[in-house]
Amino acid sequence: MSTPVSLDPSVDHRILELVAVGDDGVCSTDLAAGPWTFDGVPGYGPGSSMGDVIPTGSPRQGELPAAYREADEADLEARIVAARETLGDRVVVLGHFYQREEVVRHADYVGDSYQLAVAAKRHPEAEAIVFCGVHFMAETADLLSGPEQAVILPNLAAGCSMADMADIDQVEECWEQLAEVLGPLDVPDADGLLPVIPVTYMNSSAAIKGFVGRNGGIVCTSSNARTVLEWAFARGRRVLFFPDQHLGRNTAKEMGVALDRMPMWNPHRPLGGSSAETLVDSRVILWHGFCSVHRRFTTAQIDRARAEHPGVRVIVHPECPMEVVDAADEAGSTAYIREAIEAATEPTVFAIGTEINLVRRLAAQHPQHEIFCLDPVVCPCSTMYRIHPGYLAWVLEELVAGRTVNRIEVPSAVADPARVALERMLAARP
Ligand code: SF4
Repeated sequence: MSTPVSLDPSVDHRILELVAVGDDGVCSTDLAAGPWTFDGVPGYGPGSSMGDVIPTGSPRQGELPAAYREADEADLEARIVAARETLGDRVVVLGHFYQREEVVRHADYVGDSYQLAVAAKRHPEAEAIVFCGVHFMAETADLLSGPEQAVILPNLAAGCSMADMADIDQVEECWEQLAEVLGPLDVPDADGLLPVIPVTYMNSSAAIKGFVGRNGGIVCTSSNARTVLEWAFARGRRVLFFPDQHLGRNTAKEMGVALDRMPMWNPHRPLGGSSAETLVDSRVILWHGFCSVHRRFTTAQIDRARAEHPGVRVIVHPECPMEVVDAADEAGSTAYIREAIEAATEPTVFAIGTEINLVRRLAAQHPQHEIFCLDPVVCPCSTMYRIHPGYLAWVLEELVAGRTVNRIEVPSAVADPARVALERMLAARP
């Protein structure tokens, strides 16, 4: 039996309700436990990425002190508010759209990874930037913030399984193999085009952004992927796109690139699993990466939404598989989804294909519309879920005590070329 959906934006409350009544509408009952339960254990923890393989050497979070593990929601809320008051302008708190409500409500800025990195840049006076998102986002904030500013990730285990799917050693190896097939990669042809331009999604490590910067490439977001691919095609015969195959495929397909000219690169197979001829003929080489949150969306869910809600407007994120994007009415970034709902003047039914925390928050903010997640199972992003108010209270109270914990710092050898790749993206904006 399904528990009625309320307009309480808290996914945590919803998970506790479902688990308490034994409803199977949640992907893992472990979500009802505190995330500290999983900090000593290798893995992404419960949620959408729990089946993904975590790389060895991924950061682990040390034990959260008992005072935070044992505090209830109201106590943590009061501690966070008090610490923020004490710290004042010395700290800026950033919250990603996919972060839980109990954390987001303390953020000075709420946005996608790029919007938050830019927000960090706007506060050179802050000594510390507490990034309630995942590891690559904190790295990007560190790239764009001042050298004296500390970027803090409240739980070091908050990685991103998609970003982890493109490892720097695998990408370097891919680049060497492509050079064997395509010839020297830094020598343009008679038309002035390089054999291949590397393009990385914002959702990648600083090491990958640095690789791209060193090799004539560029960063993209889900909002500007088409503009960035146009930039790359003006400079190269083909693109190597990582880590998200779906964003690469959906964007290139919309630009008219044929599917048979978009081979996949599987880093565990010679030549990525393609023939040399296929790579020579390619336009976009897609890395074998994906987001386990957005991979859960299916065309069957869209069919069901249309059958149950005639006239429903279906909007999905471009990290969803191609057939899902094709079956939806619209596809766009988190910012696009939010703006589309805000712009709707008539009461509308929206079925949304993106992370559940954002969908429930939008539903609570826009009660004139009916807004629901296409996925009927509550299954948040595992890694965002690792940031609980307990960790936020801990890092803030440590700052009050004069201690900086969980600082994320990108070494300058990586940071300098990574900034080049980000600057190219900013300059490529239409
Ligand atoms: S939603 Fe997907 S891409 Fe975003 S942080 Fe989670 S796993 Fe990574």
